[in-house]
Amino acid sequence: MDQKSLRVSQLATYHICPRKIYFEEGTTKPTQPGKETLLLKELSHLLPEIIRRKDEISEDDIRKAFHDICKELASIYPDTFGETPREELDELITQLDAKTIADGLSTHLREEKREFIDSITPHASEPLLYSEKHRLTGMPNKIVKIGDELVPSVLKTGRPPKNGVWKTERLRLTSYAILIEERYNTIVKRGIVEYMRYGTIRRVKIRARDRREVLQTLHKIRKIHKNQIIPEKPLSAPCERCEHNKKCEITPETLSSKFF
Ligand code: SF4
Repeated sequence: MDQKSLRVSQLATYHICPRKIYFEEGTTKPTQPGKETLLLKELSHLLPEIIRRKDEISEDDIRKAFHDICKELASIYPDTFGETPREELDELITQLDAKTIADGLSTHLREEKREFIDSITPHASEPLLYSEKHRLTGMPNKIVKIGDELVPSVLKTGRPPKNGVWKTERLRLTSYAILIEERYNTIVKRGIVEYMRYGTIRRVKIRARDRREVLQTLHKIRKIHKNQIIPEKPLSAPCERCEHNKKCEITPETLSSKFF
């Protein structure tokens, strides 16, 4: 794989703060998901099996699923869960609201069982995708198949917006769509976000303007890397929880450019 390829996650980073792209150049390792995210990810993979047998999902179904998942976490993620005591896992399960998850999933089941099952059943799980053309790499949580269509699906632990999906998620889905099209020689029309903590699944169209924005963002990221220009601090940058805030504070504003 080309050393200078970009990761899909960098597009989301750029939209949070383009300066982060400058400070993270040369970082090859994507950040590891936390324990709660991994627990929800395993629930997402177990769901099709649970749902096929049901018309309604209960709180107990979700709790039982979490307990079953916990038995295998150390084998699936030995680095993260190898040493985790049972009490910590129980605490993690308690923090996740099984009723909210069950209620959300049951609403989908009542509305459209067949398409819902297709929307969550992996055709490919965590496939590593690479585009030669765009020098872009990424790994969606799943690719699902709805009819003849391949659809990228990502898992999110945060709250869904009132309608549709958040902007960074839309860009991720569009990036995965571009990668799937090159790998499978197809056209991707839709993407899915699983807000698993809320039992909510959202489908969105992949729009031409999102494709344009993905390509433009790739160009801007490459320009930051190539020209070594520090983008200006955006007004809404989340500096308090940023790991680069020390370096960023001592970067003179005169070195930065507003053209990103
Ligand atoms: S400290 Fe703020 S401006 Fe600097 S990289 Fe982080 S988020 Fe961006």
